[in-house]
Amino acid sequence: MIVARLREILGGAGLLVEPGDLGAYRCDSVHRVDAGILCVARPADTEQVSRVVAACRAAGVALVPRGGGTGFAGGALPLPGQDAVLLSVERMRSIRSIDTVGDVMVADAGCTLHELQQAALGVNRLLGLDHGGAGSSSIGGNVATNAGGNNVLRYGMARDQVLGVEAVLADGSVLGPPSVLRKCNAGYDLRSLIVGSEGTLAVVTAVALKLRPAPIAFATGVFGVESPQKALDLFLLARSVLGETVSAFELMSRPAVEFHFAHVKARREPLDRPTPWLALLEAESTSRFMDLDAAFQSLLDRAMEAGLLLDGSVASSIAQRRSMWALREGIAVAMGEARFHIVKTDTAVPVASSPEFIRRVESELEHRLPRCRPVAFGHVGDGNIHLNVLPPPGMADTEFRMRSEELSRMIDDIALSLRGTVSAEHGIGQGKRDALARMLSPAEIGIMRAIKLAFDPVGVLNPGKLVDRQPT
Ligand SMILES: Cc1cc2nc3c(=O)[nH]c(=O)nc-3n(C[C@H](O)[C@H](O)[C@H](O)COP(=O)(O)OP(=O)(O)OC[C@H]3O[C@@H](n4cnc5c(N)ncnc54)[C@H](O)[C@@H]3O)c2cc1C
Repeated sequence: MIVARLREILGGAGLLVEPGDLGAYRCDSVHRVDAGILCVARPADTEQVSRVVAACRAAGVALVPRGGGTGFAGGALPLPGQDAVLLSVERMRSIRSIDTVGDVMVADAGCTLHELQQAALGVNRLLGLDHGGAGSSSIGGNVATNAGGNNVLRYGMARDQVLGVEAVLADGSVLGPPSVLRKCNAGYDLRSLIVGSEGTLAVVTAVALKLRPAPIAFATGVFGVESPQKALDLFLLARSVLGETVSAFELMSRPAVEFHFAHVKARREPLDRPTPWLALLEAESTSRFMDLDAAFQSLLDRAMEAGLLLDGSVASSIAQRRSMWALREGIAVAMGEARFHIVKTDTAVPVASSPEFIRRVESELEHRLPRCRPVAFGHVGDGNIHLNVLPPPGMADTEFRMRSEELSRMIDDIALSLRGTVSAEHGIGQGKRDALARMLSPAEIGIMRAIKLAFDPVGVLNPGKLVDRQPT
């Protein structure tokens, strides 16, 4: 019945029901479901979204919002055993306006992050959000997951880019159009509640995004270091020499780099000789009065003098800069495309605790599962380390899967003991709900449930994700 009702609302082009058409919607970057999707609703505008949400609510059918399907937490897929309508915003792709006086862009939720980055650059502005999934993830999904990525240490997460959201609530009513104001203290900040709510409070249909001056100069380098502590020391030195121009500081362990080389079947060492860890440092300037190259050189001289570096290379062309980033991004891609099970984590700890976190996890892994291979990489400049684990050589996939939960939990627990988080940027979705319950106090979980209940009293929006309305 719901399918017939949605066909009335959306017409043929707006609804997918054939098994062959649903295939592309059955996975995200990590998970896959083989059942549960009743149909995919593809509304063309906010009004249609509103009618779809109201119809699902009236029919008592779960509605799962979906953007590019690049998430890591299973948030854009039905739960096992659940029948759901997927609502994809992929046909909502307009940039509604770009205001270069107020530096605001308003875009439909289905625009990809990459499209919006390019549109901003087209008017000499920067959208301060970037990550490896930019090409296929939607801005609605980025906002719904409060995505992080490569430039958080300078520009913040998705939340920090959002001035306003337009969103459809669980009863079909519309909040919007998105506010474009830089200052607004009128009541509770509903925008901030919706950002990061992973489709459980509202369907985001449009977003007003902050723009900034576009950088006119970049300095990018890859540096070989002996240990995470040396990397951290390099980061602190970089901040003191380069100040707020530091826009990215990424760390890659040797096993992470080797994993990428094996995946692409090519060895493109960025330095003359392999080093145990690589740090990717980038600084960017928007002012022609700043000599970024000279500042970067001064940093390198001081880092060498201080004995922080084993080796280093600074990009002298755009192609070299791209190939440095391709190495870093290639690690995440290789992890996503691996054909065997990998334990994947998304922890963050206070930046100063990063070396201790990595040391403790590696030692505990060796103790619990000798010869398993920790693969650490990530946005260490903001404390977010993806400490993934590959199986010991020769261990059967099924056997390793059985250890997965124990190992993830151990890694999360070490992060929590250092006052960290179990989810830095990927969200909670369906996989991290237990970990969230371990991390937050009963008072925090209680207020989250109350918020869910207030926004979605009957539980139509992404039920079973992030937090339930009632204790289960
Ligand atoms: C190679 C690679 C690298 C990546 N690197 C990073 C990284 O560095 N940092 C990072 O944060 N992420 C990263 N990601 C993950 C991913 O791109 C982000 O989580 C992104 O924000 C998801 O957007 P999406 O449109 O694909 O959302 P989906 O995967 O479709 O959905 C994710 C969640 O958002 C909800 N949702 C989607 N659209 C809407 C909407 N319009 N309204 C309400 N809820 C909605 C869904 O219900 C789901 O809960 C990476 C992904 C890949 C493939």
